[in-house]
Amino acid sequence: MTGLSNYSRAIDDVVSERLRQIEVEGFTAEHDDRYLNWELARAGACYATVATYKEKTRKDAAKRTFAPGTWPWHLDWWKPKDRRRDLVRAAALIIAQIEVMDRADQLDRKCPVCAEPMNDDDLCATDIELGICHAACLEGSPTVNLDTGEPSDGPITSFRYDDVMGSEGSGQ
Ligand SMILES: [Zn+2]
Repeated sequence: MTGLSNYSRAIDDVVSERLRQIEVEGFTAEHDDRYLNWELARAGACYATVATYKEKTRKDAAKRTFAPGTWPWHLDWWKPKDRRRDLVRAAALIIAQIEVMDRADQLDRKCPVCAEPMNDDDLCATDIELGICHAACLEGSPTVNLDTGEPSDGPITSFRYDDVMGSEGSGQ
């Protein structure tokens, strides 16, 4: 599986490995999204680390009797091969972890009323119970003065989503 031949062989191989993880090993989005404790990044770091070992140490690691201390799973899953393949796998695992982060960020950004994603330039308003919603989704809801907590006849206070949340989303 290539098709990215304008890029380097290394990038082709990382993309192929990522697709193999999804299609052959079943590392789908739903599967990966359980790894919220950085398991994928830690596994990637372990494969990258073992690629830096001196040859003898690396060969010992390849016997699979030990894994680097941050290895997140059972030793049965620790399958170092050779340096290049381990680095390719490390890069693909780290991409998988970034995809988990990005999906979690998208979830955080959903409007609690309509469940659509919040875009940076969406006009938003804060609902006391629901938090940040689209201003339009709160149309017709009672308005409260956020300073006093008293009902208000005044217009709903709205703002652009990225003015409060920043263009990088809620982050950590
Ligand atoms: Zn909405």
